Amino acid sequence: TPDRQGHPGPARLGNHLNQPTSNGRPRPRAASPRRQRFATALWGLRLAWAECGLLVAGSGAVMVVRGVLPAVLALVLKELVDAVVEALAAPEAAATVPVWLVAIFVLALVEGITWFQQRYLDLRLEDELEAHLSVAVVHHASTLSLTFLEDPGRRDLIDRARSNPGQRLAGLIRQLRITVTMGIQAASLLAVLVVIEPWVAVVIPVVSIPFLGFQWRLAQRRYDEQHARVTKARWSRYYSDLATGPYEAPETRILDLGPLLLRRYRSLLEGFRDRDKSLHRGDLVGSSVATLVLVVGLYGLFARLAFDVLQGSATVGDLAIFTGAAGRLRASVDQAIRSLSLALEESLFVANVEEFLGTRTTEVRGQRRLPPSTGGSSLRLLDVSFSYPGRDRPVLSGISFEVRPGETTALVGENGAGKTTLAKLIAGLYRPDEGSILLDGVELRDVDPDDLRDRVSFIFQSFGRYEGTAAENIGFGDWRRLLDRPDEIEAIARRAGIDPLVRTLPEGLSTLLGRRFGQVTLSGGQWQQLALARGLARNGSLIILDEPTANLDPRAEYEIFLRFKALVADRTALIVSHRFSTIAMADNIIVLADGRVAESGSHAELLAREGTYAALYRLHREQMPDEGQLRDPGQPPDRE
Ligand code: ADP
Repeated sequence: TPDRQGHPGPARLGNHLNQPTSNGRPRPRAASPRRQRFATALWGLRLAWAECGLLVAGSGAVMVVRGVLPAVLALVLKELVDAVVEALAAPEAAATVPVWLVAIFVLALVEGITWFQQRYLDLRLEDELEAHLSVAVVHHASTLSLTFLEDPGRRDLIDRARSNPGQRLAGLIRQLRITVTMGIQAASLLAVLVVIEPWVAVVIPVVSIPFLGFQWRLAQRRYDEQHARVTKARWSRYYSDLATGPYEAPETRILDLGPLLLRRYRSLLEGFRDRDKSLHRGDLVGSSVATLVLVVGLYGLFARLAFDVLQGSATVGDLAIFTGAAGRLRASVDQAIRSLSLALEESLFVANVEEFLGTRTTEVRGQRRLPPSTGGSSLRLLDVSFSYPGRDRPVLSGISFEVRPGETTALVGENGAGKTTLAKLIAGLYRPDEGSILLDGVELRDVDPDDLRDRVSFIFQSFGRYEGTAAENIGFGDWRRLLDRPDEIEAIARRAGIDPLVRTLPEGLSTLLGRRFGQVTLSGGQWQQLALARGLARNGSLIILDEPTANLDPRAEYEIFLRFKALVADRTALIVSHRFSTIAMADNIIVLADGRVAESGSHAELLAREGTYAALYRLHREQMPDEGQLRDPGQPPDRE
């Protein structure tokens, strides 16, 4: 098992599999199951009706026709046999025989054609629902808060909802439809057969009940297995990506992680296989026993009827119809039960989609507009505290500082001090647990998100490498405005100083980048240059730069350093950096330690204070004596 291999992932996570879902709601099974399933089926039907009512109605009509068809066919068949038997004794009675033959021909034709109609309607319904629901799930995910999406426990909910939601719902509807069709068939055949052999009414229900119970339990087990498997399936996808992905390949090769990944991957897949095997076996054994019981019951009655015919208390027509109809009845009952249990299984999956689409994150969308700002924004933090959901230690506590319009503020601190988190809070990506953040005097949580987005530019430390053209990689910074304005994108590239990079690309800004679809793969530093240009694309009044030069070569970094003021223009800037060359030129420096503001002030003030900052600075100077010139923001060195 994974545990024995010292496997940290799935085995440990496996312990959580029987606990309630991370949003605190119990799993669908634990909720009142039968009513829940009924409600889910109704929810699904209503949704399908709203999306493609015509297809649902058509499917319903065909369902009824196909439901009564076998019983009608059996009745016509009985008439035909009796007419033939009668004609043997009295030839003038043969006149009705062709009528019944034509009727049988028509019925057989209807049965054949409606089968294809039904299949067409099923496929169309599936396509429509898949297109609708997959989009609905992705759209809904885009409306949820970042903390919700980042919560590993909730990934499972999203993954479950994402796996072919439309196919699941179409599957549920199809199975319900088959159940009803087969139910109508069984009931009408039963009605026909009861006239011939009344015991049918008792024997068939009695022998069907154990089969129904068995299939029901099997469906529940199949679902439980799939449900519990989601996290492990995610691990297995991760291992396979790690072993095969182009970005990961170099490191996994050097570390020779292949065999280890393969072992973990195989162990997961073999686990799935073994549990599936036990399910399939159970199905085989249970279904065989159930079929035996059904066949014994039904053909016991058949034998009884054969004796009745011999004794003259039943006709040959009776026996003929019983032969055909009883076989058909058995198949209908069998099919009805199987589809009902499959409908149950599908409804459990559809319940996941319903649950996900019903999730609301508590954040209320702000409505206030920011006052017009000509230059940079002002920013004020008052006693801000924040913890990530599910972590007991706050990442930030009691943070207060102020940034005047147009000022540059540097955030400094050790790894994990909370700099990025603070930057994300200021950009409105998370909301503080306590305290307030005021942008241009307006409480951030009240600001209309669209307004906020237009104001704030963010250059991320873990920036995006978008599979797309170089122009798109820049234009995404403000795509509503820029995507069909190549000249403007070019101007931004020039302003960001990345035209040398653009010139090296075979098709300039139109070059398709990235490893998955692209013609050209850039280096980490080149991607970061693009990210920088993307950040500058938006004319926001606050620009946040989270280690914007970490991947750049010294020359590129120096270029940025020289042009920083010009790049930022009169915007308010917040920069997270470990480079003292950059930090020192900030108007104000905030030193974060343990999620609190340890010190703040200008470079000179902080050096004079002889605290954390001064100590860090001295350490840096000892390590990098050659960088001496860069440390003085007033006198940038000459370029070699
Ligand atoms: P810094 O930018 O100063 O290096 P971060 O703000 O990135 O620090 O992280 C501060 C702390 O918050 C770290 O201990 C980190 O583990 C935690 N953290 C960061 N991002 C997340 C997240 N998305 N979910 C949970 N914890 C996080």
